Amino acid sequence: MAGEVPRALVAGNWKMNGGLAMLKEPRLLAGMLRDVKLRADVMICPPAVILRRVKSVVKGSKIKIGGQDCHWEPSGAHTGDISAEMLKEAGCSAVIVGHSERRTQHHEGDEVVRRKAQACHRAGISSIICIGETLEERKAGQTLDVVKRQLKGSLPDLATAANTVIAYEPVWAIGTGLTPSTAEVAEVHAHIRAELGRILAAESGQMRILYGGSVKPSNAAELMSQPHVNGALVGGASLKAADFLGIIKVYA
Ligand code: PEP
Repeated sequence: MAGEVPRALVAGNWKMNGGLAMLKEPRLLAGMLRDVKLRADVMICPPAVILRRVKSVVKGSKIKIGGQDCHWEPSGAHTGDISAEMLKEAGCSAVIVGHSERRTQHHEGDEVVRRKAQACHRAGISSIICIGETLEERKAGQTLDVVKRQLKGSLPDLATAANTVIAYEPVWAIGTGLTPSTAEVAEVHAHIRAELGRILAAESGQMRILYGGSVKPSNAAELMSQPHVNGALVGGASLKAADFLGIIKVYA
């Protein structure tokens, strides 16, 4: 509904971490969350090969499962890739697309990210579209322009608040322990909200905008309290149930 703050989402991106030995963490987390009333959705995005195992470990709990990336085609000759349809079949309700590690290490640009987000919607699951500036871009005063360009280029035409989440992740804050000031976070999130308003009109107020980049239990409350911050995308601190819980509990 227009005017209401969107329900928050706290999503954990395990990246290329977590073999079978890690299954104890989501099991622990599911137990810790059992009697906690939350104002947020919780998601874990493990490596694809253990998706089904994590899904069965958290069965019946509040925890949803997401993918870390997908191909834009539903099937075909794409060795090593996974389609959004396959991720849905494995139990995912969303897929992260355009993470800065994909953009940098796999040379993925906005058009590829847009096609991947579109593939998620085709498959009937949500996309979590990552955008964010590099340190050089921030130092050059280009942050707002970069974020605007990535948003316009990566957002599919049929994006809605129900099928799309935006994650603002300054590249220089990912895995470094550095974070922007709360004023900087608030400025970028307000800018993204305004740009969404220009692109999507009616839907814009309800689309979730997550902050990501070195979120941990000690800084989560302050970061999450900024206007237009509707949750977090968490890397390192999502690997241990106790740390992830410390962030999720901001919404308890
Ligand atoms: C991420 O990879 O999306 C991320 C935010 O990582 P970290 O929390 O470790 O900075």
